[in-house]
Parts: sequence; C-alpha cells; structure tokens
Amino acid sequence: MTKPGESALRIRPGCVTPEPSPDLIARYSKRRRSLSHQQTVDGILRGDRAILAQAITLIESSRAADRELAELIVEDCLPHSGNSIRVGITGVPGAGKSSVIERLGAYLTGEREIGKPGQKVAVLAIDPSSQLSGGSILGDKTRMQSLATSDMAFIRPSPSRGSLGGVAQRTREAMLLCEAAGYHNILVETVGVGQSETAVHEMVDFFLLITLTGAGDELQGMKRGVMELADLIAVNKADGANLAAVERARSEAENALHYFPRPANGWTPRALTCSAQTNRGIAELWNCVLEYTGLTKANGWFSVNRQNQTRRWMREIIEQGLKQRFESHPAIRRRMEALERDVEEGRTTSFRAARTLLEIYSDPKPAGTR
Ligand code: GDP
Repeated sequence: MTKPGESALRIRPGCVTPEPSPDLIARYSKRRRSLSHQQTVDGILRGDRAILAQAITLIESSRAADRELAELIVEDCLPHSGNSIRVGITGVPGAGKSSVIERLGAYLTGEREIGKPGQKVAVLAIDPSSQLSGGSILGDKTRMQSLATSDMAFIRPSPSRGSLGGVAQRTREAMLLCEAAGYHNILVETVGVGQSETAVHEMVDFFLLITLTGAGDELQGMKRGVMELADLIAVNKADGANLAAVERARSEAENALHYFPRPANGWTPRALTCSAQTNRGIAELWNCVLEYTGLTKANGWFSVNRQNQTRRWMREIIEQGLKQRFESHPAIRRRMEALERDVEEGRTTSFRAARTLLEIYSDPKPAGTR
C-alpha cells in the first residue's frame, strides 16, 4: 500500500532521490493535502524541489482534475520560464550518457571560478523503452548518484505511461516548471533507440550525441539520422588504452559531419573527445554549448528556433487531441471495426473507408441513420 506522502515525493524504481526521513514524509504529505494552486506556483518560483516534484507528478497524472490543475500551474509559471539553456543528450545504452551528465552536473553546479557560484541543473529523461516494454533503459538502474545528492540538481526519470508524443509533451511542461524554479541548465536525456531523439531535438536549443568507439559500421549507419541532428558529437571513454581509437573515431565523425547540409543556424557541428572517467573534455564540451548559444543568440536563431518549437508543440497537441477525440467518438467506435474489415477483405478502399469515418466524425447523424 502507498504510504501517505509517497506519491508526493515520487519514490519510484529508478528514481535516485535519496530516501526521505519519516519527518520529511509527514511534512510533505500534510503539505500536499493543503497546497493550493497558488501555493504550488509560489513554491516552484521559490525553487522548492519537493513542490516542483509534486507539480510534475500532477503533469504526469492521467486524472482529468490533475491535468486541469497542472495546466493552470504551467500557465502561471510560463512568464518565469525560458531563461535557460536546454540541451538534449542522446547515445546508445552504454555510451556513457549518465556518467557524462554526472560530470557535467558536477562541473555546472560547482564553483568554476573563485566567487562565481555554481548553477542549478535539472536532468529530465525521455525513455521510449518504458512505454514499449514496461521496462526502462534510463530509469531501472540507480543513476547519477552523486549528482542526485546535490541540492543544486533536480533529476527526474521519464514518465512511465503514455505514448511518446504524450511523454514528450509532459517533459516539455516539466522543463518549463524547472525553468520557473530557477534551473538555468536543463539536460534532457534520451536513449538512442526509436523516435525519441527527434522528440528531444524538438524541445532543446542544443543537441549532443554521445558515442563510443567500436560501435561498428552497421550501428554508425543506423545513427546517420541522429548524427544529422547533432550540434556536437562527443566520443566518450577517451582514457587508458582507448585514447588512439577514440581520437580516430572523433576525426571520422567530424569528417562525416561535413557531408551533411549546413544547418540554418550558422553553426558548424563538431566532434570532440571526452572521458567521464577522468573528466577530460567535460569543460570543453560545455564551452562548446556556450559558444553555440552565444552565436545563435547573436544571429537571432536561438529565439526563432524556440518560437518555431512552441508553434509546432501547439500543432502537435491539437493533432493528439483530435486523434483522441476521433478515436473515442461513439459513432466512430461503432463503425471503425467493420470498415477496417471491409478494407482488409477488399470490399472498399482505405481511402473511401477513411473518408466515410471522417464524414461521420464531422457530421454525426443520429444513431441508426448510418
Ligand atoms: P549510459 O547507458 O549511456 O547512461 O552509460 P553509463 O553512463 O551508464 O556508462 C556505461 C558504462 O560505461 C559504465 O560501466 C560506466 O562506468 C562506463 N563509462 C562511462 N563513461 C566512461 C568513460 O569515460 N571511460 C570509461 N573507461 N568508462 C566509462
């Protein structure tokens, strides 16, 4: 049975938040019951991590009342969001994503120069495997353990329910809340399988592909589409006996990047080497992100890209809503199965059947007349 406060604190498998004390659970379970919409928004704007986590739980909820409240919260946080660098990070399982994020997180949250305080980092994940198989590549193991203990970091695993489109939408909303809570560096991680890279690319300013040597030609070919999205390729595990091979892989990757059309943002994608084990290349990696944001803010691409993204999100939400309404419409549900059978058995064409259904949807006649 769920203890009071558990859902508020989101203790889920794979969530690396340290075990809360009974006192903390009591405090937050009481808080959750009494938190109004305004208190939640105020809590987020104050940077209260427990309240931020609760609000993201609302975003992920499938209950209509929760969704409604979540929408109000996101709307109120919107004017305080956007002031961040959003970085997407992808790579095949084992490439070293969580190890690199752990290092990057330590670099960003730490004091990089004397007197210059560290910055807050939020790590969000989109894991298509959690929807397909119920299992999860990104969430099952305990990841980023030391970053998770930092009070400058907020780590949230992928929502475990819903289609990729729904999960991406929730992650986008979670990202806005994190920004409102003062997280100026947002890292959105995904596994290099399925369509999730495109979904992440659609919500970030900068896209990083972490790769490794010896992945084989077949895999490199498969990754072509992802390489084309990358602003930076980091060949990881540049340490020990691996150094020469990693350097070779880096120069091959850089050569391959030249064959892609030049992106409209004015940036020339590049490849570098890094090691999450020795910390080599981590600062360079982030400098590259900063160089990119400097360039694209100066040439206007940064805000144009975000505007384009928000417009496409709106259209995506409309498409999802229409699809859901269409599929749950009683008249459609009544006719869909029979028409699918007619199409399969050649009694009508896909086109005609689809048109019939669309006509029923836009002009449903009283039952019995169709
Ligand atoms: P992910 O699945 O992409 O998140 O990969 P992980 O970060 O979990 O790393 C997979 C394995 O590679 C782990 O055993 C890590 O310890 C190891 N690893 C990650 N980065 C490095 C690195 O820079 N050098 C070496 N030698 N091993 C690494």
